[in-house]
Amino acid sequence: MQVTSRKFKENAHDAMQDENLRAALGRVKQGFTTARANAAAELPEFEDLRDQARDIKDHVLENLDYYLEYFEQKVIEAGGQVHWCSTAKEARETILKICRDVDAKTVTKGKSMITEEIGLNKFLESQGVEPIETDLGEYIIQLADEPPSHIIGPAVHKTKEQVTELFYEHHQQYGYTEREEDPEKLVGEARAVLRHKYVTADVGITGANFLVAETGSTAIVTNEGNGDLTQSLAKTHIAVASIEKVIPTLEDVSTVMRVLARSATGQEMSVYTTFSTGPKRDDDIDGPENFHVVLLDGGRSEMIGTELQELLRCIRCGACMNHCPVYHAVGGHSYGWVYPGPIGAALNPQMVGIEEAIHLPNASSFCGRCEEVCPVRIPLPKILRYWREKSFEQQIGPKPQRWGIEIWGFFAKRPWIYRLMTKTAVRALKLMSGKKGKIRSLPFNNGWTAVRDLPAPEGATFMEQWKKREGK
Ligand code: SF4
Repeated sequence: MQVTSRKFKENAHDAMQDENLRAALGRVKQGFTTARANAAAELPEFEDLRDQARDIKDHVLENLDYYLEYFEQKVIEAGGQVHWCSTAKEARETILKICRDVDAKTVTKGKSMITEEIGLNKFLESQGVEPIETDLGEYIIQLADEPPSHIIGPAVHKTKEQVTELFYEHHQQYGYTEREEDPEKLVGEARAVLRHKYVTADVGITGANFLVAETGSTAIVTNEGNGDLTQSLAKTHIAVASIEKVIPTLEDVSTVMRVLARSATGQEMSVYTTFSTGPKRDDDIDGPENFHVVLLDGGRSEMIGTELQELLRCIRCGACMNHCPVYHAVGGHSYGWVYPGPIGAALNPQMVGIEEAIHLPNASSFCGRCEEVCPVRIPLPKILRYWREKSFEQQIGPKPQRWGIEIWGFFAKRPWIYRLMTKTAVRALKLMSGKKGKIRSLPFNNGWTAVRDLPAPEGATFMEQWKKREGK
């Protein structure tokens, strides 16, 4: 996938002009946040479960090598194979080799952020293997040739009318020659087209929400059941997962799942939860003949033992973006890579490089909502601050911004000058605002005043109020 994180500002500017996107983001803001709040309120032990989920993930990260090897041993015992891949390239080539070994022409795919991360679809296409997304949202964006804009709702930015046009354009070859506008019928159309693909696919590729060490199982949660058909109808099942997805026991998985769906969509549980353990056994009525797990490191082991380790607790629920005012304003594509929202702003600098993702840690109001709702309590604002400090130390980023921070730092270290400066600035802003109390244009800050007036400061400054309160 092409990285456009460096163009965050341009991407965001374009996104804010897009009326369809504005309407779609409005639905994210209302729907997901209300659903999560209700789900959390209905479960008295929700906060305790969040602590437990955090502790389980921390325990795994402290013992990652042990649990990964334990998981591998159990997969082999169940008749499957594990492929260890350090890089995206290695993972792509491993998957291609498995496809070639079974002479695969088409693969069906369940929703998987890791396959987005490694750019699997384009790669397989370039090698003559046709990938078909089966999650409805992923299918829509595959037809539109776009990346996902949300972790759990990849096509959340698309309107019904846009889906009508996409299906009309791509489904005529299957005999659907009318523009369908009814959402239920649109779903039926996609289902009918995909049914045929499931039964003719040579390989089924899924992600994994969890890798269960004690049983060697992969677990997926979906609301459409497409993952189940993907992994059980094709003769070969490949589960692609990153290394931090391993969880010690089934009991631990059930704890983490109780916070996952509630945080993501406000459901008590996703509609389908499926565990896959090895290939089909003699007395199984269905299932794949071959079972492979492709384990991707992709820079994650470098995060262990660093300030970024806590990011590896992420269970990709999407709650942080659902509650983020910046995501609500600019949408997922603005972040320019696979992971949007606060988790993307914190993770992408590590994945694609801080130079490439320089704007992302600054795309935050630091309101703290992301940390407040994260089911595994990842301190996202702290990690965004870490990246800001890193980029300042390494002298990356726009010069005016760095100079501004240096000037501010100079005064902040000299309190009496700082106080004098803020007092003077407040007076100057009051003078500039005139009778209307609004500043139309601010030198060096045109970006702010180009689309809105700046209200003049009112009343006493914070320091004056503090002095009064403390009586000194
Ligand atoms: S950082 Fe937390 S809230 Fe955001 S996707 Fe990951 S687990 Fe969910």
